[in-house]
Amino acid sequence: AAAAATVTPSAAPAPGGYPPLDDTFGRTHTYLRISLTERCNLRCRYCMPADGVALTPAASTLSAAEIGRLAALFVASGVTKIRLTGGEPLVRRDALDVVAALGALPGLTSLGMTTNGLTLGRRLPALRAAGLTALNVSLDTLVPARFELITRRRGQGRVLDAIDAALAAGFPSVKLNCVVMRGVNEDEVVDFVRLTETRRLDVRFIEYMPFGGNAWSDARFVSYAEMLGAIGAGVGALERVADDPHDTCKHYRVPGAAGRVGFITSMTNHFCGGCNRLRLTADGSLKVCLFGSDEVSLRDALRGGATDAELLALVRAAVRRKHYSLGGKKDRHELARSDNRPMITIGG
Ligand code: SAM
Ligand code: SF4
Ligand code: SF4
Repeated sequence: AAAAATVTPSAAPAPGGYPPLDDTFGRTHTYLRISLTERCNLRCRYCMPADGVALTPAASTLSAAEIGRLAALFVASGVTKIRLTGGEPLVRRDALDVVAALGALPGLTSLGMTTNGLTLGRRLPALRAAGLTALNVSLDTLVPARFELITRRRGQGRVLDAIDAALAAGFPSVKLNCVVMRGVNEDEVVDFVRLTETRRLDVRFIEYMPFGGNAWSDARFVSYAEMLGAIGAGVGALERVADDPHDTCKHYRVPGAAGRVGFITSMTNHFCGGCNRLRLTADGSLKVCLFGSDEVSLRDALRGGATDAELLALVRAAVRRKHYSLGGKKDRHELARSDNRPMITIGG
């Protein structure tokens, strides 16, 4: 698979004073995704096992203060972008406090959240005021009955309304994430693309990925190439638009449209060469790759009294063990055979 642009390692210390988080492939890590919870108010079939997941006891998940301390260390080491995810980040009671604490970190240029949008609508003003700048809302179907099949819950209309409300509330970046699956929603890609014609919205199609217990199968998998073909047939050829260096998304546009269309092609065209991301799970483990099984518990170190320098030493050592691509796995077939946490407990 093609690697994205090579990244020049940064020699200078990060603005916060600690050295940057470089791995052995010259990639500098400036983006941290933090899972706020393993809980969720939906039950998406592609994200969690049918019988649910064993939840980490509350006392073993990071508190808002612990998240704040770790996030500050990452930001002092050059992280400029943080995204809150889960589980569903908005089911966490103190989600707004976390947003406010992180929003106040000097050096952070983007603070985002990935949410299923179910309870987003009424919280938009508070989130915006607390410093949230980027919203990614997940929605896999525009058909209410299908929403119920995919998520085992109701609420499709509420999610779509929340997306429009987020646009109206002036969030600088609003994206819709849609996982495309054969026999589930692959016939809706054109309808999703049409949402971008009049809205300043990025619709991003995600290739279906295998995770622990999500019953992934190649038969359900739809490739980027196939999606592009279906869209071309439905709305005509899209224009390719420029991507940023660390983009995980290949961007296009319907000529003249207000928003963009993107494809997250982790399975057929990975973008690991430009990877700048790290993940902190709700139970306080650092995952240096979405697909890597290596984890280090920053929670245990922190609760054991580690100093900032000791915590950072753990982080740096883990970053230097990072594999080049897909957590050291060859492709989606090998990933499907390997062990990984269910997506809901990683924080996608
Ligand atoms: N609950 C929030 C949401 O759904 O947006 C945040 C967490 S969710 C795990 C983050 C993203 O991962 C969502 O956009 C979801 O669609 C995506 N995702 C979950 N399972 C996936 C899979 N098997 N393949 C591709 N994307 C997946
Ligand atoms: Fe919940 Fe998001 Fe996973 Fe769906 S994709 S079950 S909304 S965490
Ligand atoms: Fe980065 Fe791993 Fe995702 Fe590749 S698979 S982009 S290395 S997190």
